[in-house]
Amino acid sequence: MGYNEEKIKEDIVNVMRNLYRRGLVSALSGNASIRIQGSNYVWITPSGIFKGGLRVDDLVKIDLNGNVIEGFRKPSSEWRFHVAIYKSRPDINAVIHAHNPITVAYSIAGLRLDESLLSEVLLFIKRIEYIPYIEPGTEALAKLVGEKARTGCNAMILEKHGVIGMGRDIYEAEMIVESLEDLAYAQLLSKLIRFLSRE
Ligand code: 13P
Ligand code: ZN
Repeated sequence: MGYNEEKIKEDIVNVMRNLYRRGLVSALSGNASIRIQGSNYVWITPSGIFKGGLRVDDLVKIDLNGNVIEGFRKPSSEWRFHVAIYKSRPDINAVIHAHNPITVAYSIAGLRLDESLLSEVLLFIKRIEYIPYIEPGTEALAKLVGEKARTGCNAMILEKHGVIGMGRDIYEAEMIVESLEDLAYAQLLSKLIRFLSRE
């Protein structure tokens, strides 16, 4: 038996609840999807609905062209970059987009993260790709995300917007999104501590 669709939907709801509790997604920000392995179908979060309290019935099944196959809600406005990643990367079955506050603050400040600071980052994140600001939800954003995904990375920072984590499963994608924020937090605190303890 493959990974059944009820389990896929429960996993998306659970992960969105985890990310909401950690403040990485909110009512209006963040989305997640899982590809039904080996198929052209994807379960994705709905657009503009409170992400901390999703129910499995809120999720939407789409094909890789964005056609709604099942579900009553409107699919995430970022469905285009979710499908662009699946089209570029057969090894990826789950995509999460979150608005990690400290990671985004670094990007607003025009600074990059230092991947060498944390062992978990070195372990799980292959490479962080930076995507210049492009209006959310657009085909232009999806096109660039798809192109960068093809280079084999599994983490992206969308400048002044958010992050993308992609994994073989949704828990791997979650680990990547959370590790990015762990890194940004550690980098910020270490700078602050150094600054406060200078002689
Ligand atoms: P959706 O609610 O449409 O998924 O949009 C959230 C978001 O983060 C857009 O970039
Ligand atoms: Zn967003």
